[in-house]
Amino acid sequence: MDSVPKSAASVKKILCEAPMESVVQVSGMVISRPPGQENPKMPTGEIEIKVKSAQLLNACKKLPFEIKDFVKKTEALRLQYRYLDLRSFQMQYNLRLRSRMVMKMREYLCNLHGFVDIETPTLFKRTPGGAKEFVIPSREPGKFYCLPQSPQQFKQLLMVGGLDRYFQVARCYRDEGSRPDRQPEFTQIDIEMSFVDQIGIRSLIEGLLQYSWPSDKDPVAVPFPSMTFAEALASYGTDKPDTRFGMKIVDISDVLRNTKVGFLQDALSKPQGTVKAICISEGAKYLKRKDIESLRKLAADHFNQEVLPVFPKANRNWNSPVAKSIMEEQRSELIRLMEIQEDGVVLLTAGEHRKACSVLGKLRLECADLLEARGLVLRDPALFSFLWVVDFPLFLPKEENPGELESAHHPFTAPHPNDIHLLHTEPKQVRSQHYDLVLNGNEIGGGSIRIHDAELQRYILATLLKEDVKLLSHLLQALDFGAPPHGGIALGLDRLICLVTGAPSIRDVIAFPKSFRGHDLMSNAPDSLPPEELKPYHIQVSWPADSEAEKSSLNQPYHPES
Ligand code: ASP
Repeated sequence: MDSVPKSAASVKKILCEAPMESVVQVSGMVISRPPGQENPKMPTGEIEIKVKSAQLLNACKKLPFEIKDFVKKTEALRLQYRYLDLRSFQMQYNLRLRSRMVMKMREYLCNLHGFVDIETPTLFKRTPGGAKEFVIPSREPGKFYCLPQSPQQFKQLLMVGGLDRYFQVARCYRDEGSRPDRQPEFTQIDIEMSFVDQIGIRSLIEGLLQYSWPSDKDPVAVPFPSMTFAEALASYGTDKPDTRFGMKIVDISDVLRNTKVGFLQDALSKPQGTVKAICISEGAKYLKRKDIESLRKLAADHFNQEVLPVFPKANRNWNSPVAKSIMEEQRSELIRLMEIQEDGVVLLTAGEHRKACSVLGKLRLECADLLEARGLVLRDPALFSFLWVVDFPLFLPKEENPGELESAHHPFTAPHPNDIHLLHTEPKQVRSQHYDLVLNGNEIGGGSIRIHDAELQRYILATLLKEDVKLLSHLLQALDFGAPPHGGIALGLDRLICLVTGAPSIRDVIAFPKSFRGHDLMSNAPDSLPPEELKPYHIQVSWPADSEAEKSSLNQPYHPES
């Protein structure tokens, strides 16, 4: 090429003057590095090129930030220039590890277990029950598609269609507003099988994770332990317990039954009343008075629950009138029951079982954060603690109207065979065949054995959940055409990879994620459309009264979120 310089001086000039991150093409001879100059940390660390000619293919303009992992930049800036951020070591590592794991999962499912990789539509219709869906206008007046929250109906229909082992790396959509560790679009490893039971699905997933687990991490030990939902709630105050550390919730109602303390007496006199506690080992040594105060404030502000500290062995009584009123006998019983050591602090609360457990479950995690901030290691960062949570209730009271029921998982989940007789009399008591997979206190998957009997499915939808069955007539009809018993699961791929890589956010394992507020900060989506482009969809925007300013700001140059 004419432009290829010949002299050593001009080669040097091109290479020295090329700004950082430019693209250059060099040709020359590959030679060994002089002895002592090898770099064993680089795959090409033993060689170098003796350059004959060089050409600048693309000179990099001044960068908005330096592409070095240790240079701090705001996430908004990283997302605005995502294509540059992707060049960072961490993003390269995360995305390459994700790709390798997905490849292994495909191998395991398709090559070793006969699964078929099938794509399902993303233009679909509204599904009753479950998360809010994104709506897509169509050209037919008043008709809309919805983006599916998961391929749930399709995967069940595939079982009816004789594709008895389905899987898909499936894109799912949920319009759930801003939540710190959620994305409006995310990816599931979606699986369904015919003629399978809970144990069958569980061992398939254990094998899948074991097979695809990165070789530089400690191997995954199987089978994973399991715990019932009731036990998870009672001991950890949540359906996704972090089992890497203890500090379990203990019911101390019996110890304090004859207490003189008014608010405990009040709670215990109610039919569902309990007194519960957690013990923070070494809490008196590592926690400050203001820490305990902030824990109490959190309980009061977010749970409307009073929490009191008790120091059964350490000689402190901050703000704890209870401590003085606890008799010696009760104190020793508490020490025995909760195995309290020197410097242990007890956080105690009273109230209805579920509420008392929830608040202590939250405080348990807060305490772990506080103790770790002070240098104690409660959760080994190299440890991956998997857990199955099983025997969920089939229904929960609806959040907005507790008199009505909603599905704890989704309306296609089969009842527990031992509880079917309760469906007509005490539906709230019915357990389900739903299982969740939890990793280090995060739900990374969930699934169930499905209802394959149209009659039972119709009863649950129409009578118990009060859903419009017409919306699901295609599924109900399909169940009547020789549907095999079936079940499945979906793993949340983004969260799984986030935990495996130790990334601070799921956005760090997705190439082009949305911001906290659901925006693409690089391209500025979602964006406005001129009225004439909305016409074919029979749509008109009705601007909220105070949003004139907002409307005009949409036409202004773009400012990233901070
Ligand atoms: N579709 C379900 C979900 O997204 C998973 C399943 O039941 O297989 O949670």
